[in-house]
Amino acid sequence: MAWPWAGLLRKIAALAQWFHIREDSASSILSRTTGFIAEAGFTHSLTPARNCTFGCTYCYVPTMLLYGGLKKEDWQRWGQFTTFKSNAAELLARAVRGNELIYCSPLVDPYQPAEADDPHMPAILEALTARPPRLFVFQTRGPLILRDLPLIERLATRTDVRVSFSITTNREDVRRLYEPHCAAFAERLDTVRRLRASGIRTFSTLAPLLPCDPEELAAAALDATTENLVGDPFHSRVAKPHGATTRKQAEKISAIHGFGGWHDPEFYNSVIERIRTVARAAGRDFGVGPPGFGWLAA
Ligand code: SF4
Repeated sequence: MAWPWAGLLRKIAALAQWFHIREDSASSILSRTTGFIAEAGFTHSLTPARNCTFGCTYCYVPTMLLYGGLKKEDWQRWGQFTTFKSNAAELLARAVRGNELIYCSPLVDPYQPAEADDPHMPAILEALTARPPRLFVFQTRGPLILRDLPLIERLATRTDVRVSFSITTNREDVRRLYEPHCAAFAERLDTVRRLRASGIRTFSTLAPLLPCDPEELAAAALDATTENLVGDPFHSRVAKPHGATTRKQAEKISAIHGFGGWHDPEFYNSVIERIRTVARAAGRDFGVGPPGFGWLAA
């Protein structure tokens, strides 16, 4: 017999959340890459859901509109709900040929908060283990990935698996402004260390570079991994007139809090050089844009 309070507690938990969850079946699950991710060397992307419940204020995905595979409600209510592809694992079982270099995902975080309530990644990992691609890279900022570590370790016995883990700033006040639903700096570093300790190649990915102490951020990120650092600044219309760009919400936050320079190419290029100097002094490197993300696929 079900515990009588369980339903009520689930309702209270749902009311306390900022998001809700939907499911829909998809017609395909692997997409041929184009643009940034293709330039980095990936052949396919795997996107397990539409709309991301991290809801980061800077996220470029809602600015892609229909080109991001979104519906109007997604870009109008970014982060408030997600729609999982309920048949992702079954589609994968038929779609993988074995020569794909897969990036998961340029359009959603596979370990977004909704994944904790409604797990889809375990079935996807089982499907990939049964029919592995040549390379599988997770792009995430969610410590929830550790839930699936045994499955990821098993997948790594069948194919090349890497994690690109986003670490955006060493300043908690800044993180709370731009990405309040994401994990704290210390928890992210700890997640990178735990993934690395389990033998999974794990990169600290400084993307987007939020206002920070560049030298402190670089030193901590280098200490957590043995890999080069990967990163990307805010997208700026000055440097990139077309295509996906940083959301206006982040630009407003920057303007209010005196961080406008972080959207200026001359300023953020100087920050990139400071981080590169720290990385090179440690015998490693810092790459931005497709060349940096290319290390994930190399
Ligand atoms: S985690 Fe990634 S996909 Fe999700 S809202 Fe943040 S930037 Fe966008």
